[in-house]
Amino acid sequence: MRALYQSKDAVEAQLLKDYLAGYRIQTLVHGEFMCGAAGELPVQPFPELWVLEERDFERAKALVEHFLSLDVSGSAWRCASCGELNEAQFHLCWSCSALQQ
Ligand SMILES: [Zn+2]
Repeated sequence: MRALYQSKDAVEAQLLKDYLAGYRIQTLVHGEFMCGAAGELPVQPFPELWVLEERDFERAKALVEHFLSLDVSGSAWRCASCGELNEAQFHLCWSCSALQQ
C-alpha cells in the first residue's frame, strides 16, 4: 500500500477514488471519513488517497494527473487504438487502456 495523493478535501478524495475504481485500481482514503472506522489512524485535515496494490501505483499516478487537468465539459471520445467510445471523464480507454490522443 502506498500514498498516492493528498486531496484538498474529502469530496475530491472520493471523486478520485471512484475515478480510479473505474480503472479497477483499488484505493483507500485515509482521512476524516476513516475516523474510527479503521482503528488507530490519525485524523487528517486533507484526506490522503492510498493505492492498495503497488503494481497499480504508476498508472494511478498518471490517472490522477489526468483527472486534475480534466475538462469535465468535454465530450465522449473514440479510442484511436481499438475504436471504443469512452466517457469524457476517462482519459484512458476502458477497453484497452490506451491513453486518449
Ligand atoms: Zn481502446
